[in-house]
Amino acid sequence: MPIETTWILGDQLSRVGSALDRVEPGATRVLMIESRSAIASSPYHRQRLHVVLASMRKFAAELEADGFVVDYRVGDSYRAELDAHRNHHEPDRITVMEPTSWAMRELLGSLDVDLVRSNQFLCHHDEFADWADGRDRLVMEDFYRWQRRRLGYLMDGDEPAGGSWNYDRANRQPPDPTDSGFPEPRRFEPDDVDRDVIEGLPAGAFGAEPDGLWPTTRTEALERLDDFVEGRLARFGPHQDAMLTDRWSMRHSLISSALNLGLLHPSEVCDAVEDAYRAGSVPIESAEGFIRQVIGWREYVWGVYWLWGPEYREMNALDAERPLPPAFTGGSTDMRCLETTLASVDRYAYAHHIQRLMVIANLGLIAGVVPDELTRWMRASFIDAADWVMVPNVIGMGLYADGGMMATKPYAAGGNYISKMSDYCGDCRYDPKKRTGPDACPYTTLYWDFLDRNRDALAGNHRTARQLAAANRLADMPAVRERASEVLTLLDQGRL
Ligand code: SF4
Repeated sequence: MPIETTWILGDQLSRVGSALDRVEPGATRVLMIESRSAIASSPYHRQRLHVVLASMRKFAAELEADGFVVDYRVGDSYRAELDAHRNHHEPDRITVMEPTSWAMRELLGSLDVDLVRSNQFLCHHDEFADWADGRDRLVMEDFYRWQRRRLGYLMDGDEPAGGSWNYDRANRQPPDPTDSGFPEPRRFEPDDVDRDVIEGLPAGAFGAEPDGLWPTTRTEALERLDDFVEGRLARFGPHQDAMLTDRWSMRHSLISSALNLGLLHPSEVCDAVEDAYRAGSVPIESAEGFIRQVIGWREYVWGVYWLWGPEYREMNALDAERPLPPAFTGGSTDMRCLETTLASVDRYAYAHHIQRLMVIANLGLIAGVVPDELTRWMRASFIDAADWVMVPNVIGMGLYADGGMMATKPYAAGGNYISKMSDYCGDCRYDPKKRTGPDACPYTTLYWDFLDRNRDALAGNHRTARQLAAANRLADMPAVRERASEVLTLLDQGRL
């Protein structure tokens, strides 16, 4: 019998993960643990809990089918179950691939296990730290080009394919009203494992029940990737920032949960997209826009999460003090953009990156929501949520709570941006052009009020100089302040 144990964590569901790819069945026992205290640590979206637990159980079954001996344990805590495993099996050694969160790293550090260097990302966080060393600013575009060069994606020799490093300008187009070809993602047939998981979901879980939307096996994840590359990718790029009320997923890939659980590796995802580009079936704008998200943005966020340490999550540079508005936790809202986005989160545990940044986080920023409250809500609500994803995206990108370590300026915007990039405003009781009066768009009012309130904090930032100058020229700023005060009260009361 094997005398070594390989512990597979819930987001390391890969046969090529570095803890597992070096061992044959028979050479190690596999340990997997469902911790009830981890599940109970927060109310989570039903689909989030389901996708993690069903994927774990199905991965364990696949390993057993391949000849591995798997000790799959469900118990109160990781520590208690690890002790029970040790007592029962007396392994010489327990190895675990490096975890994806500070909390898990701390726990593993106290459990006498051997960490194996992670290969889940294309840039290990040590390599990221080397890249970051000596730089004044960690500019994502610089990192992305460094990744392109060293990984070779979309490169023609030393030059970027298509002649340009990025196609952002082409990829920020508003919705195309003539476009009706949005394929609905396929569902995966639930099996007994899914039904068991759904039956056992905790009473405090929220959101719509799982209905087979999210892949829970590698086979399903590969099908989802194929569907994206063949059916969505070609027209993904130009309108990737656009939002439409009745097109919840637009042409986004819907593979982020599979990537974050280990069911897909970022290299195979980028390979598939590059192959489609080289075969002439997708334009460079779409291929580049997608690969930028994977090897650029995703890996950059992973890198800064580790570089800036566990204290980074506690930053609150703008001294934001507002509790999370009731609209986020079951209340209602008349703001059509927020209502549509939160309905998508409730129904699918999903909103795409611009809904997350410019509808949800933007409201948090301009209303002054406590960063930690929004981070926790996002971690609990999204299908692809992980600590390393949400902490930098909320603290750095969304709320500017790090004072500019990540973003060069706050991503604050009024209703005009949302109006341009979506069809939400046409059906809203508020007017995106108005900043005062009862029908003023709350985003527009709060945008100007945010600049006014944070004048001192933003004064030294040349990237906000024009916005501050425009705020200085507003003759109706007293009326804006008054309306903003009303708006914030209504927001707190769940009456906006
Ligand atoms: Fe959102 Fe304002 Fe547009 Fe209404 S008018 S949908 S609140 S941006």
